[in-house]
Amino acid sequence: MTVTDNCDAPSTCDVLVVGAGLAGLMCARTLQRAGLHVQVWEAADHVGGRIRTDEVDGFLMDRGFQVLNPAYPAVQQHVDVGALGLQTFGSGAGVRRDDRFAVLADPRREPGHLADVLRSGYLDPAQLAALARWAGPALGPPGRLKHGPDTSWGAGLDAAGLSGPLRAVVESFVAGVVLEDEGSTSQDFVRLQLRMFALGAPGLPREGMQALPEQLAAGLVHPVRTRVRVHAIEQGRSGATVRADGLTGTARLVVVATGARVAQDLVGVPAPAMKGVVTDWFTMPVAPDAPPMLVVEGRGATSGPVKNAAVVTAAAPSYAPPGRHLVQASALIRDGAGGIPSVEQVRRHTGELYGVDTGDWELVHRHEVPEALPAQAPPLRTRRPMQAGDSVVVCGDHMDTASIQGALVSGHRAAAGHLHRTC
Ligand SMILES: Cc1cc2nc3c(=O)[nH]c(=O)nc-3n(C[C@H](O)[C@H](O)[C@H](O)COP(=O)(O)OP(=O)(O)OC[C@H]3O[C@@H](n4cnc5c(N)ncnc54)[C@H](O)[C@@H]3O)c2cc1C
Repeated sequence: MTVTDNCDAPSTCDVLVVGAGLAGLMCARTLQRAGLHVQVWEAADHVGGRIRTDEVDGFLMDRGFQVLNPAYPAVQQHVDVGALGLQTFGSGAGVRRDDRFAVLADPRREPGHLADVLRSGYLDPAQLAALARWAGPALGPPGRLKHGPDTSWGAGLDAAGLSGPLRAVVESFVAGVVLEDEGSTSQDFVRLQLRMFALGAPGLPREGMQALPEQLAAGLVHPVRTRVRVHAIEQGRSGATVRADGLTGTARLVVVATGARVAQDLVGVPAPAMKGVVTDWFTMPVAPDAPPMLVVEGRGATSGPVKNAAVVTAAAPSYAPPGRHLVQASALIRDGAGGIPSVEQVRRHTGELYGVDTGDWELVHRHEVPEALPAQAPPLRTRRPMQAGDSVVVCGDHMDTASIQGALVSGHRAAAGHLHRTC
């Protein structure tokens, strides 16, 4: 590759990766390990893309609440989870019912909550059987989920006969994971996510979620060039030319790891719709008395905008100064006017979920993320074709699954494909 700009002498390398999110970093690392000279150009002032942590008054807040699941196969393979100091949430969920706060937990991993589960009011045998019919395949071979017949998760719940209070809980929980509550996402994608929740205990790195991409970036010989926004990619006979403001580079291979919408603008791959989320971060003198788990609505979606809340500091004390508490509450961003719930709506509903007065809660920060996750409609297609010309490939979560796992896998797949073609 040749790079020219006002400050650098022209340099040469093999691959130029555009975008330093998880996919771009994973791709760069894999190619570098194979001995290639790789450079990464990133538009933002920092690596990580959609995984970014803000520090405000000593509180750590990720740009939209998200968790790292150490059960993701790509995380196990490529990430030093031990070095991240993962602070895990409990394996279960708190549920707001009309008359009480219930806890549903995996009794094998949370034996201390067995009595809570027994008195939760959710142990109706017919409904548990319906839940097992629907969720059971999540624990079977993952290959069947990726290649079998698929439908939407809403249709899947109907087909399994899940109804009543247990369905309301499942709907709340899943909506917070896939960022839609119409039931339109691929059922098999939802099952893959449930499989990960069953196998792993998600958590937050000691230094915030941003520590994950930073760990990947730290392994790169050539540091990521930040504040370089690419605006054009032109393919030639034996490579491609990349143009950014004041900077031009040519490389044998250009990897577009920018996220779906920019990839569509740059090289024309069709982008899926994006799902949005708003996360409010509150601090308060006394934390709600709840286990370190996600809390969801059990009374139906019309009860309020919040899809999940959590006393973050109950699981991850490093997210606040000593002795302080931090609660996150996340709601969907919908299209059109009024599509983003107000802080007051979120605060009121979060108070209801925990059964506490939020009068003395203070908003530390609000993150609005309109483009958080690519839609994952059925049938699930985990390996979209990446080649966008002889010398350009596209990777990112939109090419695999809408997740940390999907972003890492797609970055690795883009690199492996190039190595396969050229070696
Ligand atoms: C709020 C939220 C919650 C989430 N929760 C979870 C969760 O709990 N579990 C889970 O598994 N996943 C979750 N995800 C999804 C996960 O974070 C993403 O799937 C993953 O980070 C996507 O990585 P990526 O590399 O594909 O894309 P991105 O992170 O979007 O990276 C693209 C990069 O390209 C850069 N770029 C864009 N345009 C240009 C340009 N023109 N020139 C140069 N650079 C450019 C961007 O700045 C960015 O750094 C969540 C995401 C969000 C936002």
